[in-house]
Amino acid sequence: PPLHRQRHQFVIDFVERNKPKKVGDLGCGECSLLKKLRFHREVELLVGVDINGTQVHKNMHGLAPLSTDYLQPTYNQLCIELYQGSVTQKDARLRGFDLLTSIELIEHLTLADVKSFSEVVFGYMTPAVAIISTPNSEFNPLFPGLAGFRHSDHKFEWSRAEFRTWALEVCQDFGYEVEFTGVGQAPSGLQERVGFCSQIGVFRRLRARDDSNVLLEDVFSYTLVSSLNLYH
Ligand code: SAM
Repeated sequence: PPLHRQRHQFVIDFVERNKPKKVGDLGCGECSLLKKLRFHREVELLVGVDINGTQVHKNMHGLAPLSTDYLQPTYNQLCIELYQGSVTQKDARLRGFDLLTSIELIEHLTLADVKSFSEVVFGYMTPAVAIISTPNSEFNPLFPGLAGFRHSDHKFEWSRAEFRTWALEVCQDFGYEVEFTGVGQAPSGLQERVGFCSQIGVFRRLRARDDSNVLLEDVFSYTLVSSLNLYH
């Protein structure tokens, strides 16, 4: 399957195994991951955030229920909310989630904005788990004819060591542990040398949400684009 599907499948497999109730996708783009996640019955709240409000707006209709969704004999309630906003800004409505994902987003930020992203996501939103994916630059020589970055909007592409350095600093600063993995295998024999095409960090919060979180101020900087309640 194409790489973007493999990245989303990685999240879906995680959701199937861990059954988070509140899930948010940061930089949700065309909402294709959210569209798949809405079929998972354990999910009660599904939130998407993207800086590109037009894109989110255009795709929100695809999240509306199919008529058959109403015909299920047993149902759970699912609330879907889409916001226009930047992941460099805090918003209290994204706090306390079981899972936040950020798939191929951070490489679109300047390094100063990556720092804000880390503070917002790990210091303020404090999800129990965060899944972050980004290109692995060590894999790039396997793309024929690629000179420079994989996409003109990328501000950087990190090697495994660079991703690791950022991730371990996040863990140290905000009390998380991280496991490194990825999707997109190199041809046999090269996997060890170049790693995965997309590298993924699965971050787990070490402490339970404690009283110190109560002291975090409630900030609302995102704009609600759409909100749906459905039964599934
Ligand atoms: N996560 C989606 C996926 O896997 O298909 C989309 C990935 S796309 C390469 C990057 C997305 O990040 C775009 O939709 C873009 O609008 C969004 N984005 C870029 N900067 C952002 C920011 N500061 N805050 C929120 N979203 C941002």
